[in-house]
Amino acid sequence: MNCPRCGLPQELCVCDEMTRVGQKIKVRTDRRRYGKYVTVVSGFENVDVGKIAKDLKGRLACGGTAKKDTVELQGNHVSRVKDVLVDMGFSEDMIDVA
Ligand SMILES: [Zn+2]
Repeated sequence: MNCPRCGLPQELCVCDEMTRVGQKIKVRTDRRRYGKYVTVVSGFENVDVGKIAKDLKGRLACGGTAKKDTVELQGNHVSRVKDVLVDMGFSEDMIDVA
């Protein structure tokens, strides 16, 4: 299957990586029922949010869900999530941690 944006086969396509670099990401925590924390990472555009969610969950060893432009991770990962996002190709100065 070829990339719909650049037309290259997926293994050669760098659209996702290129998009990640310029992405403005917001990180915040939210408190849910029973006082449980979730870490909400939002602002994703034109990237595979499902893939990012899977990667984040693996790296942070937690559960989570992906919806549209947002990834919700179970637990409070604010202290680590920025480093992990940078490691995944996002720009440090584009990540806004609330
Ligand atoms: Zn592409």
